[in-house]
Amino acid sequence: MPKAELHLHLDGALSPGIAAGLLRKMGGECAPLSYRELYERLVISENLASQAELLAYFDLPGRLLHTEEGLREVTRSLLLEKAADHVRYCELRWAPALHCAKGLSPARVVETVADECRLVTGATGQTVRLIAVGMRTLPLAQNLAMLEEIAPLAGRLIAAADYAGPEAKSPDAQDQLAFFKRARELGLYVTLHCGELPNSAPRLRAAVEAIGPERIAHGAGAAQDPALCEMLRDRDIMLDLCPTSNIQAGLYPDHKAYPLKRLAELRVPVSISTDDSVLSDLALSDEYIRLLEAGLIDLKALWRLNLDALSHAFLEEAEKQRLLAEFEDWAAGIKELR
Ligand SMILES: [Zn+2]
Repeated sequence: MPKAELHLHLDGALSPGIAAGLLRKMGGECAPLSYRELYERLVISENLASQAELLAYFDLPGRLLHTEEGLREVTRSLLLEKAADHVRYCELRWAPALHCAKGLSPARVVETVADECRLVTGATGQTVRLIAVGMRTLPLAQNLAMLEEIAPLAGRLIAAADYAGPEAKSPDAQDQLAFFKRARELGLYVTLHCGELPNSAPRLRAAVEAIGPERIAHGAGAAQDPALCEMLRDRDIMLDLCPTSNIQAGLYPDHKAYPLKRLAELRVPVSISTDDSVLSDLALSDEYIRLLEAGLIDLKALWRLNLDALSHAFLEEAEKQRLLAEFEDWAAGIKELR
């Protein structure tokens, strides 16, 4: 089925093959690594204990992706993989400030990724929008400086601002309220990562109340708090869920334990994404199959989630309607989806 994927990290899509090429070009700057070593550093092979352990897999992308060439390669491979999986709409996110060690400015980083998206989607026909991420690990001043750098691109090449990083270190996005305020002033949609630690309902509630995001990345822990779910439903705040990623970060033992049914019962708007295609070694279709096999959802509901994801996309109205019509056209006549 044509799919919409709203929660996808560019730097979680660095493949061992691309990394090997980038390392070769860096010569003596970085110690050489075998393919097996690259694979072990970039792809999670067993469930981990925490979000902090999962984030360690971003160390190598953080060291390697500082050139236009590297950014273009990872963008291209991710979009082509998504095209092959029939993901017709996706939103890519990453922190422009973390790719500037070799002299690129945050604006140049965004322009490079946006230009590669333009080239690829010209061939594949996908629609892509970009999200700039501020980091919990950076001081507010640096996150604000990133926004100022990309301000001329806001609304043109960048659709939204996100906020991500280790929650255990700095669990409160409210510490950097000025970041979200400035993002709004620039006309960006606002989302944030929240809920990758156990018992996250109170933190989710605080973030919703202080920041009022359009959507939240993760947040499945809201299922523990019916009143919070009611708030998410009433304010139409979508949770961009990534079940496998949360399982790999030790939040849930397996898909059967993932609270998708509970969130559906409480009518919280949700979408399904992979988070990181290479790091989690996961196509969106694979995630759908895992949810279906765990009995958490049926095909009809999965299809409706895709239409709902498009409705909540950080996308201008005309393109949203065009994509919705494309999806509906595809599904017309397929009884299993009605
Ligand atoms: Zn994420």
